[in-house]
Amino acid sequence: MQKVGFFRSIHVKFVLIYVMLILIAMEIIGLYFARELEEKLKTNFTTSITDRMSLIEFSVREEMIKKRAPDDPLTLEASLQGVLSGFPSEDINEIRVINAGKIILATSALDKQQSLVGQRSTDDIVRKSLASKTPQDIIYLDRKTRNRILARATPFTHDGEVIGTLYLEADIEKVFTQIDEVNQILAGGVAVSLTITIILGILIAQTMTRPISDMRRQAQAMAKGNFSRKVRVYGNDELGQLAIAFNHLTNQLQESQSSTEGERRKLASVLENMTDGVIATDRKGRVSLINDSALLMLRLTRDLVLNRPITSILGLEQEYAFEDLIQIKDSIALDFSTNEQPYILRANFSVTQRETGFVNGLIVVLHDNTEQEKIDMERREFVSNVSHELRTPLTTMRSYLEALADGAWKNEEIAPSFLHVTQTETERMIRLVNDLLKLSRMDSRDYDLNKEWVEFNYFFNSIIERFEFSKSQEVQFVRLLSTTELFVEIDTDKMTQVLDNIISNALKYSPDGGNVRFGVTTSDDFIKVMISDDGLGIPQANVTRIFDRFYRADRARSRAMGGTGLGLAIAREMIMAHGGEVWAESEEGKGTTIFFTLPFEFQEDGEWD
Ligand code: ADP
Repeated sequence: MQKVGFFRSIHVKFVLIYVMLILIAMEIIGLYFARELEEKLKTNFTTSITDRMSLIEFSVREEMIKKRAPDDPLTLEASLQGVLSGFPSEDINEIRVINAGKIILATSALDKQQSLVGQRSTDDIVRKSLASKTPQDIIYLDRKTRNRILARATPFTHDGEVIGTLYLEADIEKVFTQIDEVNQILAGGVAVSLTITIILGILIAQTMTRPISDMRRQAQAMAKGNFSRKVRVYGNDELGQLAIAFNHLTNQLQESQSSTEGERRKLASVLENMTDGVIATDRKGRVSLINDSALLMLRLTRDLVLNRPITSILGLEQEYAFEDLIQIKDSIALDFSTNEQPYILRANFSVTQRETGFVNGLIVVLHDNTEQEKIDMERREFVSNVSHELRTPLTTMRSYLEALADGAWKNEEIAPSFLHVTQTETERMIRLVNDLLKLSRMDSRDYDLNKEWVEFNYFFNSIIERFEFSKSQEVQFVRLLSTTELFVEIDTDKMTQVLDNIISNALKYSPDGGNVRFGVTTSDDFIKVMISDDGLGIPQANVTRIFDRFYRADRARSRAMGGTGLGLAIAREMIMAHGGEVWAESEEGKGTTIFFTLPFEFQEDGEWD
């Protein structure tokens, strides 16, 4: 948070406003007081002068209207001079008596007597007072003394006629000096009170701004996630109430923050522990969140994904724009399969919106659908295989039966062979259905192994012998059995079925004069059984597929041999049910070897005695 500038701080603003207000108030009071004082002092001064002038005026008028004999030795001027000299005053500098014709008749200033008496007065206020019959005032600055002088011309009348005017000059500087002194005292008072005001203002502002500064610091700490601080409550005023409310707010925020944090952790842990992948985007379709499952499914790293468009992450940029994904209601399949491995993800989309309908982003949930797709594909393949396997013998039978119905039954030569074919095909179908039933029972685990302890060499040899007696081709049986007794716990019926299927294949695909080898070897915890032939072999690419249901390397030959394509699939299921494994090794044109293992524990001699 940025620092508050000195002049922007409430503290300084408050003190400044406070000082300004006091200053304005004092200025107004001072101005009013100074003006009133000036007026008052001036009025007092002029009143005192006016009072004295009235006395002079009376005496002067008397002298002016007095009838004088022409031979009177005391002239008017001399008598007026006598009147003026009888009124000395320290305030009044000079008094002149001027007649209606503006001629100066007398002056109280003895030094000017010679030069002024008998002269015409040029003063403006004299002229005005005579003309207007009213007293006239003027204040001017004396050039020599630099003092302010009040000049006043007071006209006097006799029988309604203006007979002259009294011109007076008084030093008013004293009054202004008094005003200045009072103003200085006032300014001093203002300065002292301002200083006190500033100190008080700073103190009062501090009491107000300290809690505010505290709250500011608290808010800064809160922004950094520190909720442990508390604002000090200084009193019970509005600021104190605010501090209490602020502390309450801090507690509430702390609680809601911890609950939000808890929810966030919960959500994060749910997202991370989900087996489904979850991706969230912003409103422009760029990835903002992705969980580990989604990264694993997409085989990408978080750095590569974040902030990239969701369409390119899902490999959909060719088919869809982000706006299209928002509209999608159903899920879509994302096929990342390679030639070697199927890999299909299913993506569900849901849009996050505000109440106004504004799209905030998209949530994509990814689910690995490979297994499901594989199962679906296998099921479809299986149904089609079964239908195909059943249709072929049925079609054959129908054509033979049609021929018989069309009259072939009467032909003694061909009728038996036709019937034989239908019988063979029926048997093949029964075999097929029986094999399918066996597999279906194994798939649904709807069987029990009736295990018993048998000596494997003996058990194996008895089966080999059965094949040896019934074989129809010139094939040599080579026994490479173990010399030690090997006791294994097996379901003999099921193991007979396994060996029947493998040995019959070896014989089926062996040429006349070939060898079929039967071997048993032991290891620490299993026995390994081997049935090997010199037959036509299996192409290398298909060796692992011979255990798949309905797989045949050579379909026509297998069918001709009466195979169902399920023999090895059944054998594998049974071996696996015993806890063993089965595999094949083959070279085309040279022969095939089928291996399988069975769990085995070596028994010490005499344990069976
Ligand atoms: P089938 O009834 O067709 O024999 P199997 O499941 O027993 O069905 O065998 C599957 C396929 O594996 C056969 O069709 C055949 O192509 C191949 N196969 C099995 N055993 C041998 C073998 N010993 N030599 C050559 N090919 C074999």
